[in-house]
Amino acid sequence: MDTSLSERGAGVKSLAAPLLEVRNVAKWFGKGERRILALDRVNLVIRPGEFVVLLGPSGCGKSTLLRIITGLAQPSEGEVLYRGERLRGVNPHATIVFQSFALYPWLTVQGNVEAALKARGIPAEERRARALALIDKVGLDGFENAYPRELSGGMRQKVGFARAMAVEPELLCLDEPFSALDVLSAESLRGELMELWTAKAIPTQAILMVTHNIEEAVFMADRIVVMDKDPGHVVAELEVTLPHPRSRKDVHFIHMVDQVYATIAGKTQPEEVEMGSAPGEPGKTEMLPHAPLGALAGLLEVIASAGGRADLYVLGEELVMNLDELLPVIEAAERLGFAQVDRGDIVITPLGESFAEAGILARKEIFRQRIRRVPVIRWIYTTLEQAEGHRLPEEVFLRALEEDFTEDEAKRQLDTAISWGRYAELFAFDDNADELFLEETVPVASNPAPGG
Ligand code: ADP
Ligand code: MG
Repeated sequence: MDTSLSERGAGVKSLAAPLLEVRNVAKWFGKGERRILALDRVNLVIRPGEFVVLLGPSGCGKSTLLRIITGLAQPSEGEVLYRGERLRGVNPHATIVFQSFALYPWLTVQGNVEAALKARGIPAEERRARALALIDKVGLDGFENAYPRELSGGMRQKVGFARAMAVEPELLCLDEPFSALDVLSAESLRGELMELWTAKAIPTQAILMVTHNIEEAVFMADRIVVMDKDPGHVVAELEVTLPHPRSRKDVHFIHMVDQVYATIAGKTQPEEVEMGSAPGEPGKTEMLPHAPLGALAGLLEVIASAGGRADLYVLGEELVMNLDELLPVIEAAERLGFAQVDRGDIVITPLGESFAEAGILARKEIFRQRIRRVPVIRWIYTTLEQAEGHRLPEEVFLRALEEDFTEDEAKRQLDTAISWGRYAELFAFDDNADELFLEETVPVASNPAPGG
C-alpha cells in the first residue's frame, strides 16, 4: 500500500495513554447446561484520537462488549480500565447511540436534545444554546420545533446523534447506528459524522462503532477489530490508513474491503475444500451454478432491503422466479460468499451487502475479486494467460470440460463462465473466431480511479 497514505498521526497515537482498556473480558449468559459463552477473553485498547470499529456477524458479542465498556453490563471475568482506572458501574464519560433511537414523542427535536442535558443538571440557558448548536451541526437546522413523528428515520437518527453528543462524551459508542436507515439516509449521516469527527468539531476523544457492514467499517475506521462467534472472540485487527474523505470507488478502498473480507473468510476451510477444483486438477470439478448476473444482483438487493434476511419462498415471488430458476442464483450467491441459506431463509453476508449497496464499477470489482477464486474461472483465466496472444479456441475448453460433464452441460458451463468473466472484465468471447480471449486490462492496482 502507498506509504504516503499511512502517515496521519500514527506515531502520536501509539504514544498516547489508552483511553480504554479491555483486559481478558469473558461474559457468560445463563446457568448450567443452558450457559453460553458470549465473549471469550477479549482484549482491546482504544487511544485518544482513534475511530475503532468492531466488525463481526450477528451474535458474536458486539453489543455485549459495548454494554460492558459503557458499564451497562458487568464482565464475568476480566476487567475494563478507563483512563487507567478500573471501571465500576456506568461509565459517565461514555454514551451509546443505538440502532434506532428512542426519542420522546411528546418533545420537539430541541426538547429531545435538551432532555439529555437536563438529566445532567445543566442550566436552562446553556442547555438551549448547546442543543441549538448541535442540531445545526448534525444538519437539522430549521427542524428545532418539529416532533419526531414529522421526521424521516434518517432525521430521527440525527436527533439521536445530537442527543448523544450533547453530553460531550469522551468515548462515543455507536451500535449499528445506520443499519435501520435506508441507503441514502445512512450514507448522508455517515458523511456528517465523519465531517464532525475529522474536523474535530466535537470534543469526543474516541469513537467505537459496531457494524456488520464491511464497507461501512472501511469507510470510517482507523482500525477494524474483526470478531467471530461461537464463542464471541477477536479474530484480527486491521489498520485502515486511507485519508479522509474516503471514496468507495478508490482502488485502495476496494482492496481494503477485500482484505477485510479475506480475514473473515480465510479462517474457514482450505480453498480447494471450500471451492472444489478445476478441470485437470485432483478432486471433483466444481460445477458453476447457471445464475444470470442480473438475477444475482436483484436477489442481493431484495435481501438487503428486507433488512438482510428473507424467506426463500417470499423471495421467489418478489423476483418473479420459480424455484428452479431461483436455486442456481442462491447457490451462486452462497458460493461467492454473498449470502448464506439458513433454515428456509437466506441471509446476506457483509460482502453481499457491500455488493448490493455498491455502484456499477465497485460491483464489478467485488465480483471480479470473488470469481477469481472459483476454480473453473481461475482455470480459464490462467490457461488464457499462458496461451499465445492470450487467445484460445472455445473447443479447447469444451473438450476439457467434457472430461467431467456431458457435452450439453460442458457447453452450459462454458456459457456461464463466459458471461461471468465478461461482467467481471476478466475474459470474453469472440463470436467470429469462436475464441476466448483475455480482457487486456491494466493490473488492478495501477488502474486509474474509475470516473476520476
Ligand atoms: P451481536 O451484537 O454481535 O449480534 P450480542 O452481544 O447481542 O451479539 O449477543 C452475543 C451472544 O450473547 C448471542 O448468542 C446472544 O444470544 C447472547 N446474549 C446477549 N445478551 C443476552 C442476554 N441478556 N441473555 C442471554 N443471552 C444473551
Ligand atoms: Mg448487536
